[in-house]
Amino acid sequence: MAKIIRYPENVDDPSIIQTILPHADFGGEDCCGCLTATIITDTAVLSCNECGFVVKMVPAADIHRAIAQLETQVESTTAICPHCGAENTLLGMSEALAFTCRNCGRGADLTK
Ligand SMILES: [Zn+2]
Ligand SMILES: [Zn+2]
Repeated sequence: MAKIIRYPENVDDPSIIQTILPHADFGGEDCCGCLTATIITDTAVLSCNECGFVVKMVPAADIHRAIAQLETQVESTTAICPHCGAENTLLGMSEALAFTCRNCGRGADLTK
C-alpha cells in the first residue's frame, strides 16, 4: 500500500509553476534555462531553472498575470506538430525551424 506523505501543517508546500519563458530573453544571455515560479507563502519568485538567477518577485496572487505579461514580451510563433497535429507556441523564436512537441514529445524538424 502506498504511503501518503504529508507535509507538516505549519510548513507551506511550495508550489512551483514551470513556464516556457526562456531565461535568455530576460537577461540570461546564453543560458538555456526556463523561468520557474516558486510560490513561497505569499510571494512568487520567478527564477531560472538552470542557473537559479532570480528575474522577478511578485505577490503570489499576481503570478499568473505576471507570467502572461512576460509571455507577451517574448517573441513567439506557433507551429503545428507534423506527428500529432498539436499547435505549439514557441517562445523566443520568430520562425519555427525545429522544436519538441509539447503534446506528443517528439522532435519536429521543419527544415526538411
Ligand atoms: Zn538561467
Ligand atoms: Zn506532436
